[in-house]
Amino acid sequence: MKEFDYIIFGGGCSGLSLAYELNINKKLNDKTLAIVESRNEYKRDKTWSFWKVTDHNFDDCVIKSWNNFSVNSELGSHEVVNKEYCYQTIDSGLFYKKVLNQLKQNKNIQFFKNTDQLNLNNSFIFNSIPEKGNYQTNLWQHFKGIEIETPKDIFDDRIFNLMDFDCDQRDNVHFFYTLPFSKNKALIETTWLSKMDDKSLKDYDIQLEKYIKETLKIKNYKINFQEEGAIPLFYPLNKSKKNKINIGSAGGMTRLSTGYTFLNIQDHSKYITDNIEKIQNIKAYHIGKKYEFLDNIFLNVLKNNPGKMPKIFLNMFKASSKTVIKFLSNKSNIFEDLEIILKMPKWIFIKNIF
Ligand SMILES: Cc1cc2nc3c(=O)[nH]c(=O)nc-3n(C[C@H](O)[C@H](O)[C@H](O)COP(=O)(O)OP(=O)(O)OC[C@H]3O[C@@H](n4cnc5c(N)ncnc54)[C@H](O)[C@@H]3O)c2cc1C
Repeated sequence: MKEFDYIIFGGGCSGLSLAYELNINKKLNDKTLAIVESRNEYKRDKTWSFWKVTDHNFDDCVIKSWNNFSVNSELGSHEVVNKEYCYQTIDSGLFYKKVLNQLKQNKNIQFFKNTDQLNLNNSFIFNSIPEKGNYQTNLWQHFKGIEIETPKDIFDDRIFNLMDFDCDQRDNVHFFYTLPFSKNKALIETTWLSKMDDKSLKDYDIQLEKYIKETLKIKNYKINFQEEGAIPLFYPLNKSKKNKINIGSAGGMTRLSTGYTFLNIQDHSKYITDNIEKIQNIKAYHIGKKYEFLDNIFLNVLKNNPGKMPKIFLNMFKASSKTVIKFLSNKSNIFEDLEIILKMPKWIFIKNIF
């Protein structure tokens, strides 16, 4: 059996981000790390986007960034501009390549497919594998995206569309999300905020084709890449122990009202790295208690009033762009929180506190 100082379960976004952060900060020069990852190969499987409100290690994996975005509903379109915080999109394929090339150069880091050869008793564990459970009736953000390429220049690549609610809602919350990477290439996603037990919402291919042909008026295109996923809008059951910290989605790094996780994972990796010498005794890292509280109310409103959500989102984006971006990226101060709260329909939110 092999023994390591640290073991990371799951070499995905959070496992690799943490290993990279530890490695570049020379925390693995005299410590050993095993990464347990079951996948056979690394290739682009996800597209991670977020407002860059803090620095991170992966600017060179960014496919495209924007300072302008729009939010649409049947009530109209609202455009938001912010020069301070750009919205970045990272290609997971470039991320995996960069991290793995780095980690391979350190002899103290080894990869394993499973734990068969590992002695787990004396290692400190960082776990990114969510515990299995029956979460079908919880709220999820589930989606499918396709990157399409058109023969002619069609897209305005200076602005992306964060949410287009002007589509079939089927008594849930549904929007399309369009990221134009160039004038003839864009990622288009159909996204639902709903429980997972309604299979009728998952005809994603039909939804995408209809939106591309009828709304975007694009007849001729080819599909370069596809991604499909579901982000839990609830905290997982994984419990931290004395010698174990949960990371990534399993570690509560998803912002519940938005699904944004990538930048929280980077902040968590920095926190662990800064405290690695006293890792047994550090306080658990949280996105922020106030966001947990506010997001729970927000998700109750969403569950009970799906039909009102397009207007609620549109109103939220009418706050100052800096405020709304900082709020959605969990970096807002109390005055900025208040500015957002005051944009919400008060009576509906008060009713959903309890
Ligand atoms: C398609 C998709 C798009 C997303 N887009 C965004 C976005 O735009 N912005 C954003 O902020 N967030 C986004 N997210 C949410 C979040 O950032 C990602 O899910 C991110 O990958 C979470 O990192 P993680 O390490 O928790 O999980 P993962 O990246 O999934 O890593 C977990 C790893 O564990 C491995 N594994 C699982 N079971 C085992 C096992 N039994 N043994 C060994 N290894 C195992 C998996 O193969 C995987 O590599 C997206 C999620 C998905 C699914």
